[in-house]
Amino acid sequence: KLHNTILELKGNIRVFCRVRPLLPEDGVGTEPKIISYPTTTEALGRGIDLLQNGQKHSFTFDKVFMPDASQGDVFVEISQLVQSALDGYKVCIFAYGQTGSGKTYTMMGRPGSPDQKGLIPRSLEQIFRARQALQPQGWKYEMQVSMLEIYNETIRDLISTNRPSLDMSRSENGVVGKQYTIKHDANGNTHVSDLTIVDVRSSREVSFLLDQAAQSRSVGKTQMNEQSSRSHFVFTLRISGYNESTEQQVQGVLNLIDLAGSERLSKSGSTGDRLKETQAINKSLSSLSDVIFSLAKKEDHVPFRNSKLTYLLQPCLGGDSKTLMFVNVSPDPSSMGESLCSLRFAARVN
Ligand code: ADP
Ligand code: MG
Repeated sequence: KLHNTILELKGNIRVFCRVRPLLPEDGVGTEPKIISYPTTTEALGRGIDLLQNGQKHSFTFDKVFMPDASQGDVFVEISQLVQSALDGYKVCIFAYGQTGSGKTYTMMGRPGSPDQKGLIPRSLEQIFRARQALQPQGWKYEMQVSMLEIYNETIRDLISTNRPSLDMSRSENGVVGKQYTIKHDANGNTHVSDLTIVDVRSSREVSFLLDQAAQSRSVGKTQMNEQSSRSHFVFTLRISGYNESTEQQVQGVLNLIDLAGSERLSKSGSTGDRLKETQAINKSLSSLSDVIFSLAKKEDHVPFRNSKLTYLLQPCLGGDSKTLMFVNVSPDPSSMGESLCSLRFAARVN
């Protein structure tokens, strides 16, 4: 009975925790171990303990992936969620955590290493395979991709149709003259003015766009003295399905979001632009937590409007949409404070 109550309270929000392996660059001092995994029946595969100065902090999530979990192991657990976008659901999958905790690895994977592809490319392959498989039953799907980043509460388009001239015309607010105003229509569809939307027919076409977006992000890095880890990356796939024999129609959305690093910057280093940047990130991450928290509690007022990120995703977070948050954690003892913060953040929304 208790179990039911918890599920009811949580609605369609799930939290998975993923701990990355220790890396050579974590360097010396990677002992003692700060993270362990309880093996009691009720916490098996779902519990994580963090040891801080002899004090144990225990957390339970919907799933905990240990460092040896492969990209395939992770994808198995989310493939149904991805599939539901083809059935007309609005889906959001977030990666939350400090810089270096494995968010981009989880989302995109390691470039040039096919077996370490992340969940964005895996999701796209699955969706396009499923589209093929559903054809004999009369289903026809149209897919559209957009990609943007939110930096300092400002939207930047990551798909440029005319790259060289766009690069020239970038200003601090993205491309000169473009507004990127967010509007939601009565059908729960989101429109961002001036944002490039591309029709896609294969996962290879999307890979191409993803590569372009990665390049566009690094262009921004040098031009605006910005780090991609200081901005939210939002990948959106819109799916419209129509069944010729049954005349059924579905409209699904898959949002895959690599969030800005959640680390608290040292106060001394935070002045001017850096301070503004930090405040923008703190604001949007705490808005996200507030929104998910109040959705889970089924509160009447959900504060979607407090940040660009939550306002953009509003139709995909409430109602019968499905949300999954990955909390990415580093096992490096020097990251202990940040790891504890991330686990606490995730425990609040879970
Ligand atoms: P973030 O995006 O959170 O800043 P990254 O995804 O860039 O972090 O990960 C930091 C480093 O750790 C990268 O070199 C990445 O390849 C590596 N890494 C992260 N997660 C894993 C994992 N599960 N297995 C192997 N290497 C990983
Ligand atoms: Mg990253």
